[in-house]
Amino acid sequence: MAVERSKVLIVGGTGYLGKRLVKASLAAGHQTYVLHRPEIGVDIDKVQLLLYFKHQGAHLLTGSFDDHHSLVNAVKLVDVVICAISGVHIRTHQILLQLKLVHAIKEAGNVKRFLPSEFGTDPAKMDKAMEPGRITFDDKMKVRKAIEEGGIPYTYVSANCFAGYFLGGLCQPGQILPSKDHVLLLGDGNPPAIYVDEDDIAIYTIKAIDDPRTLNKTVYIRPPKNILSQRQVVEIWEKLIGKELHKSSISKEEFVAAMKDQDYAEQVGLTHYYHVCYEGCLTNFEIGDGGVEASQLYPEINYTTVEQYMRRYI
Ligand code: NDP
Repeated sequence: MAVERSKVLIVGGTGYLGKRLVKASLAAGHQTYVLHRPEIGVDIDKVQLLLYFKHQGAHLLTGSFDDHHSLVNAVKLVDVVICAISGVHIRTHQILLQLKLVHAIKEAGNVKRFLPSEFGTDPAKMDKAMEPGRITFDDKMKVRKAIEEGGIPYTYVSANCFAGYFLGGLCQPGQILPSKDHVLLLGDGNPPAIYVDEDDIAIYTIKAIDDPRTLNKTVYIRPPKNILSQRQVVEIWEKLIGKELHKSSISKEEFVAAMKDQDYAEQVGLTHYYHVCYEGCLTNFEIGDGGVEASQLYPEINYTTVEQYMRRYI
């Protein structure tokens, strides 16, 4: 008997992660709808991307967060809604716009699963996070509260570190291309973090949408070979380029002091690096009853290891 696959609406499908979600959803055989905003202007790259999605079989829908009915109408077409709206201050941060989407999902009443724009550190573990970066976690928790109070079935995806930002920059904030000469270690460089290829994040996410084991749970993506400290990431890079990097280090106190001179958006990002690289906030807890781990649920997925990911920079 043919497997019934949910129809999926992707909001934020033109974004860095969103476009990978569209690709993974189509590849897994889901009828895939992509909501895009009407105010596209002359953004030729975006139009070409949307046309490419259409060519691959996606249904394009125009809708706006300022037009409640457009959201309700879009949501009514599908079983599952995945939102990947922006949530990085150095790009844009629109997490709270999702409250309007939650409202539309509640009104439509047909959605079997909503996956809000999370895909990072579990915000539920960050109630003691530092200012100003805690806004990311606080806003994501406000969206969770609205979802749960609205009785909407959900899955939260905690994807840990996007490989492109963290591996690309050897875990140094403000860098996304690895140097062949020098690296700045954050403290002793020893707390472990977790790095995930963004394409793998999308594949795991799409796997989870029709899985009863992930209903009303947080899916943590913790590929075992990718749980490494900054020093271990640097060692892998050094092996790949056949050269040892010159290393310096910045203490916790110096890092926090230097942060104060940066603008707001930079400070938000720096506080996230602080929690990941000095405090080990991604790995300092066990997954409890409310969570499941993606690589255990889907061992058939051949995830990209840190070493494989880093080969692209040689
Ligand atoms: P992007 O900045 O690439 O933006 C994603 C989408 O948001 C785009 O499709 C964009 O649409 C849409 N968008 C932005 N503003 C509006 C608006 N006003 N109205 C409608 N749509 C809007 O997002 P990312 O892929 O960087 O982030 C997605 C998620 O991943 C976030 O939750 C973020 O916090 C998380 N993240 C996690 C990281 C990690 O290391 N774990 C790193 C980076 C992000 P348009 O194309 O029309 O502008």
